[in-house]
Amino acid sequence: MAHTNILCARCQQTKPGLAMKPPGKYGAIIQEQVCQDCWNEWMVLMPRLINHYGLNLGIPEDRQQLQQVMAEFLNLPL
Ligand SMILES: [Zn+2]
Repeated sequence: MAHTNILCARCQQTKPGLAMKPPGKYGAIIQEQVCQDCWNEWMVLMPRLINHYGLNLGIPEDRQQLQQVMAEFLNLPL
């Protein structure tokens, strides 16, 4: 199945979006506004950031901090 092209908020290019909606409350906006390539970059970066900041995703404040960093990285208005 061909992916739908979207205008990516991060790289500002019209490229294939995500084939599958990511989990979480921002899944829909990510699928509409982030291309697969930029999402892949985030997926590589995310575990490093979790380590860097010592985040515990079981803690709501830490999850919120990670979402904030993600929004800045992906240029999303979360
Ligand atoms: Zn992109």
